[in-house]
Amino acid sequence: MTGSTQRQGVRKIIHIDMDAFYASVEIKDNPQLAGLPVLVGGSPQSRGVVSAASYKAREYGIRSAMPCSRAQRLCPEAVFLPPRFDRYKEISMHIHGIFRKYTHLIEPLSLDEAWLDVTSNLASIPSATWIAMHIKKEIKDQLGLTASAGVSYNKFLAKIASDEKKPDGLFVITPENASAFLETIPVRKIPGVGKVTNQKLQNLGIEKGYQLLEKSESYLVQRFGKLGGYLFRIIRGIDERQVQASLERKSVGIETTFSKDQLLGDKLNRELDHLLEGLFKRLKKTGKKGRTLHLKVKFEDFKQITRSITTNSIDADEAAIVRVAHQKLQEICLFEFPQRKIRLLGLSLSNFVKQSLSGDDNVQLDMFHFLNTGSIDAS
Ligand SMILES: [Mg+2]
Repeated sequence: MTGSTQRQGVRKIIHIDMDAFYASVEIKDNPQLAGLPVLVGGSPQSRGVVSAASYKAREYGIRSAMPCSRAQRLCPEAVFLPPRFDRYKEISMHIHGIFRKYTHLIEPLSLDEAWLDVTSNLASIPSATWIAMHIKKEIKDQLGLTASAGVSYNKFLAKIASDEKKPDGLFVITPENASAFLETIPVRKIPGVGKVTNQKLQNLGIEKGYQLLEKSESYLVQRFGKLGGYLFRIIRGIDERQVQASLERKSVGIETTFSKDQLLGDKLNRELDHLLEGLFKRLKKTGKKGRTLHLKVKFEDFKQITRSITTNSIDADEAAIVRVAHQKLQEICLFEFPQRKIRLLGLSLSNFVKQSLSGDDNVQLDMFHFLNTGSIDAS
């Protein structure tokens, strides 16, 4: 392939990573904390871990995912704050609003990290580096927060590039300088290389990229299986994964199968209350409110029905949803299918109430899966 035809297929990917995000938001909202070792996470007495550490706190050797008790020993004067996910989500949505000026191909990794594919972008700007600079500037001007950006031609390289000049960094890996860069990276920086794999690599004398490059594919596959094939390709800068825009979640649901089939009564009502509680908990994590409740009932003979009810409550408050859920279950049990035992109940909510958090009504992000997996702000 000639240089020019290779160029044509080259993608332009930006990875944006907010610097010490949760801690930085806390400092932004409470400027007296500026310059102090600020930790977001559990209390030092708890068994919790540090979710985010300000750069001052990092000077004491404090890192995210470290037990809070240990962090306090390292820095007794550290300020411990509980996380405020709603606030972080709000800021994250604002940041995504900035991304959206340039591209709709945005793949969030967490509240504070995302990949953007700007190969063909909305502003028709040919330079991804220029876009990255402007995104950083807009984030700083509008929110007073710094981000680090990595620019390259695939997701892997963009991600490690954003880590290169933290904080407030911008680093570009071009097709021309990628191999020289990859030769020097510590292999532990490769996503997917955890503690165990890193130790195994070390034992084989592989610490830096150039040492990994010396190994054949069969050598790596023999020792690491599928991961070996991945390591062989990734250290050559080969990563075909596309930036996938996350689909908006349309409903939130929960269901339970009983250990013993139930007729309408106190026990079934309690089960319904329990499910409702679980549903509201999940909903809270998404930051959404739904006005239409779907009640799924499976009977002892495995016949299954679903009934949907939309509450009149404009803001879809919990009490209104509890009311319609019980009402509907009664109707089903007393009138539609009297004396039929129930083996499974399911609830879901849809028809989300539009909430404008960033002043941009089109911004309706799905943060559900991040919060569900327990998000740690590592960098
Ligand atoms: Mg970060």
